[in-house]
Amino acid sequence: MFQLFRKKTENDIYDNHMKLGGMYVLGAVFIALIAALMTVQANVQYEVRDERLTLLPKDQLYRVKNLEISGEEEALPADSQTLLVYEAEDVVSEKSTQMMEPVLSQMQEPYKLCEAGELSEGIVNESQRIVIAVSHFQKLSDIYSVLKKWVKAGGDLMILYAPEKNGSFESMYDICGIKDSGNNILVDGVHFVKDIMPGGQMRDYMIEDAYESSREVSLTGDCEVYIESVSDHPVPILWRRNVGFGTVVFDNFGIMEKAYRGLHCAAYSLMGDFCVYPVINGAAFYIDDFPSPIPEGDAQYITRDYNMSIGDFYSQVWWNDVYDMAKRHGVYYTGLVIENYNDQVTGQFERQTDVSRFLLFGNMLLEAGGEIGIHGYNHMPLVLRNFDYQDMYDGYIQWSKPYTMKNSLNEVIDFSKELFPEEQLQVYVPPSNVLSAEGRDIISTTQLRAIASVYLPADLAYAQEFDVSAQDGIVNTPRIISGYRIDDYMYLAALSELTFHYVSTHFQHPDDVLDEDRGAAEGWPVLSKGLESYMDWLGEGASEIRYLTGSELAAAVQRYDLTKVARQWDEEGNKLNLSFSHFEYEEWMMIRLGGKKRIDSVAGGSLTPVTYDLYLLKADQDHVEINFK
Ligand SMILES: [Zn+2]
Repeated sequence: MFQLFRKKTENDIYDNHMKLGGMYVLGAVFIALIAALMTVQANVQYEVRDERLTLLPKDQLYRVKNLEISGEEEALPADSQTLLVYEAEDVVSEKSTQMMEPVLSQMQEPYKLCEAGELSEGIVNESQRIVIAVSHFQKLSDIYSVLKKWVKAGGDLMILYAPEKNGSFESMYDICGIKDSGNNILVDGVHFVKDIMPGGQMRDYMIEDAYESSREVSLTGDCEVYIESVSDHPVPILWRRNVGFGTVVFDNFGIMEKAYRGLHCAAYSLMGDFCVYPVINGAAFYIDDFPSPIPEGDAQYITRDYNMSIGDFYSQVWWNDVYDMAKRHGVYYTGLVIENYNDQVTGQFERQTDVSRFLLFGNMLLEAGGEIGIHGYNHMPLVLRNFDYQDMYDGYIQWSKPYTMKNSLNEVIDFSKELFPEEQLQVYVPPSNVLSAEGRDIISTTQLRAIASVYLPADLAYAQEFDVSAQDGIVNTPRIISGYRIDDYMYLAALSELTFHYVSTHFQHPDDVLDEDRGAAEGWPVLSKGLESYMDWLGEGASEIRYLTGSELAAAVQRYDLTKVARQWDEEGNKLNLSFSHFEYEEWMMIRLGGKKRIDSVAGGSLTPVTYDLYLLKADQDHVEINFK
């Protein structure tokens, strides 16, 4: 597609026009480009996307979200509650509990907290699942025999991290399947012995921020090891042991950062016979600053590799490559408009008059099934003078007044409407992922429906969860990974999110190619392969994932967050009943079969295998019946 721009003759024509200068010639170039575009369009069969996932009205999202929060709506009946046992005033326990609580609540697993000292025989015996996040096992020593009896009778126990090594922990070795244990060791990579996470067995995953978080252990032969360390003498990182009628899952990973929540979600889901939890099912790719005026930056590597201007490089090389890549992988980009690269933060915002690049790139993006959203009038994040950049962004200026931020946003929305009248302009990406509370308030007064900032917290970045905001009904659709150089940390975070939410979000910034910190020196041929390899990895590891635009992802997140599931096990019928409240056309769930149970049939939905023990369920109605063999 668009190969004609690479032919020397076409380049020469383009260059000659540019040398003449003046509005007349710019107009001629624009017409030539549009003509070229139309010729190309006439020869290409675009895939028609029959149906797009749509967002429900904002006031409805707001209302449903607040019903849930206010407790006005009765909680759905649940078979059982998970007990999360923590240790008061212990830093590791506190961090682990803070990591695990959102995992459980987003998996819609009802849970309650219990301090280690409060754990009694009565509390243990009324639980079906217990997760232990305790560093000093001596705090549990009174309850060991009760716990062991409870597991043997059918209880499911998870040890969330290796506790301190002492005699008390040793007396739990038998049910955990531990023969011997050494010191805590640094594990700098994980290898999937069993394919328990989508994409897990496609490669080994190195851990960039590793520390001595895992315990060196040797296990009895009756443990099923799923993950081990990458080393000559691998250390078991995640295993399960069947004990009587119950199970023990030991999660020896030990790092509790947001980027790795999916590993702990996988561990949790391995308890018992099966685990069912809602997921988003969506992959979105964003292109920030696109369309925009020609980005500024250091041209040295573009000159070195292509001997052309930044503007020519973007239209003749970069866009061809990212466009073709998306076509090959079925990706639908969401481009985010920047109207101007000036630093104006006050006064009247002049309309951009040089629109040829906007029209050319924007229309190609739309014709290929993509979507256009808003990044800003310029690249100044929506913050006021009370915002402290902490010397991190030298070139940025704060806005003088809330209304100037609003005026600038209205200007870029009007500008984009004029260029792309059919677009709904619903997605907002904050420049440099920086956004203030005041800026966010202004966004909620516009037609924008979704904010796509970042998922992983870092410095000044505005970090989000995948959810609907109770404050105003805006949908949060954070981007997990970014850039062309997808490093080990990003791959592990992406893997984690495929398991936890069955979601993948990526953003590229055209000026990544110019920035040495983001890999510019490696050159575009190497960088573009980085992104393409990620698309390959995603396509193979998560072959069932839906490729969505930003608004569609918001619509998927809206369903994921607002639809609540009730699980009821029917022992006599050997089946699981799932009922959904606020069901809107569809709901996606992951089903893990960690034990021996196998599915016979599903009524009310359909099932697709994702890994050997993980299935993706699409619910077509508000009641689904899963019949086991
Ligand atoms: Zn940007």
